[in-house]
Amino acid sequence: MNVRAVERQSIEESLRRALDRRELTVHYQPKIDLNTGEITGAEALVRWNHPEHGPIPPGKFIPVAEDCGLILPIGNWVLHEACRQVRTWADAGLSLASIAVNISAIEFRHEHFLDGVFTILQDTGLNPRRLELELTETVLMKRAESTESVLKNLRAGGVHLAVDDFGTGYSSLSYLRKFPVDSLKIDQSFIRQITATPDDTAIITAVIAMGRSLNLRVIAEGVETRAELEFLQAHRCDEAQGYYFSRPLPAQEFARLLRTGLSLWSADRRNPSDDIPSLSPVLRSP
Ligand code: C2E
Ligand code: MG
Ligand code: MG
Repeated sequence: MNVRAVERQSIEESLRRALDRRELTVHYQPKIDLNTGEITGAEALVRWNHPEHGPIPPGKFIPVAEDCGLILPIGNWVLHEACRQVRTWADAGLSLASIAVNISAIEFRHEHFLDGVFTILQDTGLNPRRLELELTETVLMKRAESTESVLKNLRAGGVHLAVDDFGTGYSSLSYLRKFPVDSLKIDQSFIRQITATPDDTAIITAVIAMGRSLNLRVIAEGVETRAELEFLQAHRCDEAQGYYFSRPLPAQEFARLLRTGLSLWSADRRNPSDDIPSLSPVLRSP
């Protein structure tokens, strides 16, 4: 426990300086339309390159940032940077339909959260319809009334909402009807079951069916294998995201991906027979 406390303390101290020293960057991971193989958008994921310790994963420093309040300036910076980048790409003729940004509970509950989002949209000139905020079920379920009002304001402003890590939080589903949610991201632990325990995929198929009947887009997270992709296509999942298509990339590399498209881009990295269009036999038939 002591070692952990010391590590935490040290992360907190260097994180305080990280923003000023420009040690944080944003990487972008494409989301793929499983019908067409096209890039529908990207998720912005923060990266921290510590001057001595090298890259530190968000799973390690985001919880520390949440505990010490640094998540507010960090989250604000990530949102601004992602919106600015997408606008810059659009000005250069590289269109990205949507950018998803993760929002932690502390940010969402902050009294100036809404103002902050709309100020950033105004400052960067990004069309609010191109922004999607990812919230977890746990965030949505707590303090339902204030949550509903914030979500309705976002929706009224044109911003889209996704439920991240869907299936890992609360079991109550009534919020899906109550709140203006646009999409569900099936947590990657369920996607792993496709290959690990194929008999255990009922949750995925149920979520896809539920999404369809509630008119929500369903996105599979963490797709790593062709078998997972084919299963998702066969069950008519809308979109997917994962290492199988692309790891999260620095802005410059992601721009290259936007220019070439995913199938061309992946063809020179993998066996051409693994190319995405040829992966869609299920969807090619009407
Ligand atoms: P998340 O929002 O669920 O993001 C998806 C995570 O899965 C990312 O991890 C991504 O790199 C990883 N991933 C994508 N495809 C695959 C795959 O095929 N296989 C595997 N094993 N992993 C895959 P990352 O970037 O380490 O982020 C972890 C978590 O940290 C995120 O989970 C999110 O909750 C949080 N996070 C990241 N960036 C931000 C941020 O800017 N703000 C906030 N509040 N949280 C963030
Ligand atoms: Mg996410
Ligand atoms: Mg997730």
